[in-house]
Amino acid sequence: MKGLYKPSYLQKKAYDFKKVFIGIFILCIIIFMVVMNWTRLNLLVKGYDFSSQNIILSLSKDEREDYLHGDVIDFSKWDHIQNQEHYYDYELYQKSHQNESIEEVITYVDYLYKHQGQLETLGYQREDRRKLMIKLSLDDFKSIIDHQYFYQDIIQYINVNGCVIDDIDQYIASKKQPLDAVLSVSYPFIDSQNKINRTYQIVQPDHYLVLIKKGFMIHEEDEPKDLVKVAIPNAPDNESDLLRKDAADALKNMYDDALKEDMHLVLNSGYRSYQQQKDIYDEYFRIYDEVTASGLVAEPGVSEHQLGLGVDLTSQSVLDGERMVFGDTKEYQWVKKNAHRYGFILRYPPERSKVTGTTNEPWHLRYVGKDAAKEIYEKDWVLEDYILHYGFSYLLKEKE
Ligand SMILES: [Zn+2]
Repeated sequence: MKGLYKPSYLQKKAYDFKKVFIGIFILCIIIFMVVMNWTRLNLLVKGYDFSSQNIILSLSKDEREDYLHGDVIDFSKWDHIQNQEHYYDYELYQKSHQNESIEEVITYVDYLYKHQGQLETLGYQREDRRKLMIKLSLDDFKSIIDHQYFYQDIIQYINVNGCVIDDIDQYIASKKQPLDAVLSVSYPFIDSQNKINRTYQIVQPDHYLVLIKKGFMIHEEDEPKDLVKVAIPNAPDNESDLLRKDAADALKNMYDDALKEDMHLVLNSGYRSYQQQKDIYDEYFRIYDEVTASGLVAEPGVSEHQLGLGVDLTSQSVLDGERMVFGDTKEYQWVKKNAHRYGFILRYPPERSKVTGTTNEPWHLRYVGKDAAKEIYEKDWVLEDYILHYGFSYLLKEKE
């Protein structure tokens, strides 16, 4: 009976098959096109224009991944310069080195790419190397390659802020724990009893725990961005009534609470610019010899007042002539006991002057934030002890 007649429902089915086939064919073409341009579509969605997409599509698969998953990059900044196309790393490096020129950024990153093979042999994978770009200079990387320092042998030292690559042999020889090795080899003069044989520049002067003293300087042009007027009474001859916002607020709170107990604190000096500090220093220098002058006033670049976190206090009783110096007042006794509750420490206590390198300055307080101030107070430390215990929580580099 087969093939004798073709029922109508079968005719319809053949027609449907044709339709479905065409549908699948078109779908395949669409899928094919989407797959072929998937990267391009993703880049478009991310916000890259057509010419930027072309640049990215011309890179290696690994690099393309960075652009698909990372932040959007402004190619116009990099593309016009003769370079080796590691735009993603240029941008990454520039983020943490904003003062460097585009040429410097390119020199740095291109060097790393040129030596990526050598670095990988030493155990520095691309992601490791990227993390290290924040801390290490070009010379540091050159030194690593020259000395053939393996990643796993030195990463524990590099992870300590302030690690000096050129000192690594000494760290290893010291057989000390990484933090102790770095601090004792490269920073022995945190304790002022030890000789200063180098000078470091603080890279992050905004940090509240910055140790600033001989051997640890801030840059001449560093100036806190959040300076405000301190809302407490001022000594008549005080020309610096600014502090960083948090320190100013804390001092105001301290002043208010002291007043409730009939204590009358007065601001004698707050923030000083490099130039103001220099003028004061030059004045002392004219009157005394260098040794005496530098014992009495901090050299420009190493004064806590330049951080906007150092403050000199006095009291109404001193201004009225009832007391000779702040150290003899009841206000001083109160401050000594309470300052830490507001985030301040007595920076230069008499019994620790050998370590701080500054003779007794009962009037000088330093804002470090409440947590550190509490710990320093309770353990009877000075800031130097805190740094020796925890290390630097900010970056610093050897001054050229
Ligand atoms: Zn002071």
